[in-house]
Amino acid sequence: MSRNEGEGKSTSSHLGSRPGAPSSTPSSSQSSTQSSEPIELTTAVDRLEVLGPREAKLLKELGLTNLGKLLAHLPMRHELLEAEAPIAELIVGQIVSARGEVTATRLAGRMPKQRFEAVLMDATGRLDLVFFNMGFMREKVRPGVRIRVQGKAADFHGGLQIVNPKVWVIAPLAGDLHAQSREQGPDFGPEAVERGSPSRASISEVVGQPAVEPDARADAKARSKRQAEIVAPTIATAPVLPTGTPNIDEPNLLDERLRPVYPASEDVPSRVIERAMVKVLALGLPLIVDHFDASFRMAHALPELREAYRMQHAPADMEEVKSSRRRLAYDELFLLQLGVQLRRAHLRERLKAPALKFNPGVDRAIRQRLPFSFTPGQETVVAEIAKDLSGSVPTNRLIQGDVGSGKTAVALYASLMAVASGHQAALMAPTELLAEQHAASMGRMLEGSRVRVALLTGSLPKAEREPIIAALRRGEIDLLIGTHALITDSVEFASLAVAIIDEQHRFGVHQRATLRGNASDARTTPHVLVMTATPIPRSIAMTLLGDLDVSTIRGLPPGRVPITTKVVEATGRDEAYRWLKRRVEAGDQAYIVVPAIGLEEGVEEGTPLFSPEEGSQKAGNPAPALRTVAAITTELEGGHLAGCRVATLHGRMSRPTREATMDRFRRGEIDVLIATTVIEVGVDVPNATVMVVEQADRFGLAQLHQLRGRVGRGSKPSWCLLLTDEPTEMGRARLTVMATITDGFLLAEKDFELRGPGEIVGSKQSGLPPFKVADLAKDIDLLMLARHDAAELVRMSPNLARPSDALLRRRLLKAFGTSLGLADVG
Ligand code: ADP
Ligand code: MG
Repeated sequence: MSRNEGEGKSTSSHLGSRPGAPSSTPSSSQSSTQSSEPIELTTAVDRLEVLGPREAKLLKELGLTNLGKLLAHLPMRHELLEAEAPIAELIVGQIVSARGEVTATRLAGRMPKQRFEAVLMDATGRLDLVFFNMGFMREKVRPGVRIRVQGKAADFHGGLQIVNPKVWVIAPLAGDLHAQSREQGPDFGPEAVERGSPSRASISEVVGQPAVEPDARADAKARSKRQAEIVAPTIATAPVLPTGTPNIDEPNLLDERLRPVYPASEDVPSRVIERAMVKVLALGLPLIVDHFDASFRMAHALPELREAYRMQHAPADMEEVKSSRRRLAYDELFLLQLGVQLRRAHLRERLKAPALKFNPGVDRAIRQRLPFSFTPGQETVVAEIAKDLSGSVPTNRLIQGDVGSGKTAVALYASLMAVASGHQAALMAPTELLAEQHAASMGRMLEGSRVRVALLTGSLPKAEREPIIAALRRGEIDLLIGTHALITDSVEFASLAVAIIDEQHRFGVHQRATLRGNASDARTTPHVLVMTATPIPRSIAMTLLGDLDVSTIRGLPPGRVPITTKVVEATGRDEAYRWLKRRVEAGDQAYIVVPAIGLEEGVEEGTPLFSPEEGSQKAGNPAPALRTVAAITTELEGGHLAGCRVATLHGRMSRPTREATMDRFRRGEIDVLIATTVIEVGVDVPNATVMVVEQADRFGLAQLHQLRGRVGRGSKPSWCLLLTDEPTEMGRARLTVMATITDGFLLAEKDFELRGPGEIVGSKQSGLPPFKVADLAKDIDLLMLARHDAAELVRMSPNLARPSDALLRRRLLKAFGTSLGLADVG
């Protein structure tokens, strides 16, 4: 995110390194067409004299078009290059490094256990190298080639040996060298040639077997082209010394050194970037201007920004790598927090929401509508909401509560507070089915009251839709329940005071923004509540939803019986369905969830299925096809579930059919409902005690937890069977987690661990750019710090209008201006 390209307009200091700048260029012979242009971070790489034209071209291929972008291209890791020692001084059992000449090579053993062996000699002794599964090494490690190796020294029958060492070619054979110098431009001069192999020993002499590869020179020319193309991750041509010299050879690497490894491509390997970086560092680093002052950095133990970049590209030790990583991660987290909190401040200070009437009379009237009394968890949250809604600061609150914790009743409470004050409320559900169900259950609770409820979904025919929209505009509807259809442009409320987004397990900020925009004048906005049963890991909640307050409904309504979860592999499938039949005969009802609808219709919209990512596909087995509702229904009706009352349910059915089916299931006229994930959220039938998920490994943990939450809603014991045919390792891991953890909060954390935060932060759902350095799974402390600091800054400088904030403000807008919609802030 925050990178410095184009921002270091500093004209002061440190610019002695500008090539061509009059003050720093003693000899006019150096000056060229570029001499009059000062170097800036925006200077294109092909205008930097220190880089050759070929180098510049390669960098541009990677998108590193200017100095700033090049500097911002951070290493993904650092390799430790051990200090080298003469072979005679290498110590068995240690990671060691040496250099010398390859005097003999051979292939030994038979496929598939074939190994490649080489003998490395220096003036002091002999070191044997053994490579397993590394056929490509033969291309590099050939008699006469000088190489540097690193690995663990071992004693093998009295000789010194390294198995699978890392290899750097110092001086290739002549033919290869020319190939390389053509490939890589002027960096490799002929001075790197190191010819000859005076001490070459025949491998048969050494190992006592005929040499397989006595001499590779004959076809060196033919191979040289190929060699130049080989890009092996652990092989680099040579370390580039920090002095900036492109000379790759002697002197020996006497001190250990950390070598940056850059994200690269096949055409532009890491070492090309590394070499370029070494050349531009002195030029570019002084141009980087810090947005934090020295005292702030001191207090936070953060290195200066330009130092941080130096430490990434040319670290003296691992401490520097760590400390600079911390600085750059902090910057990312801080900028995002700053953006999120500025938005929040803007909302709270510039906009107003209707302050709703709240007193014991209102409270009593609302509670009378509920067929139960609130659980302690619900009470806590209802109190928090009531406090929010009775003020004019727009509420922006996330209500998280595990599946079945009773969020609907809480939503109804908030809605009725709006109605009690003569305003309107809107409840938005993720699917039509759920909207229909909310409308039905709330309608029941509100029977006999004066609250006017309407349902608005996308599939509503125009003739029914228009009167609803008109009534809404006139204020003749109090509570509107619907899908996202209710945030379209044509829907206008007379006076929307409370907007609730139910079961939102996407993390986007856009829906909330759109709902807010629905208010009739620009300065008024509804209170917004977001309800989720997918608890959001703390770090995510604070990062992406940093502008939300969070309430948690703890505990479940009384009388719930825990759900037994079992993973059933292919061999147990028949038995599982026979058991299901017995449950049905005992009077229970069941859901069977299938990933796809039918061959023509495909997957239920909004169902994020996992492809069997690793394993089977790579091994060449195609992923097993998705099971469909149609196929499973046919199979079971004619097989295990013959005689049961079976019905199907999915999103492509017409609304009346769907409603009728749900009603029949609720009344117990259907035993088994074979469905897609349309029943994932909210469906509430207490007599349904069995949930079978076909191809369960194709679903995410959060989704499985939602599905499982459809059973165990009454007082009867319930089961969830996770069926799987050929799970991948990851798929099996997910299912095992599901079977052992029932707490939705713990599951969400596990899901986060298994899938990684990158999936969420960088995803389309969040609408935010991914972090480059920060890692939400690891940097929670840093995040807390950044969050605190951002809040402090927003308090002191709510619009970042102080001159000292200018740079920070510019970087913030650049990083998050669009994604966070900061244009109107400040
Ligand atoms: P979720 O949080 O998953 O949306 P629901 O709001 O659908 O959960 O509630 C689940 C079930 O629990 C419903 O049948 C609801 O009527 C019932 N319920 C909710 N709150 C209570 C309560 N305080 N006491 C008893 N039952 C409750
Ligand atoms: Mg719900």
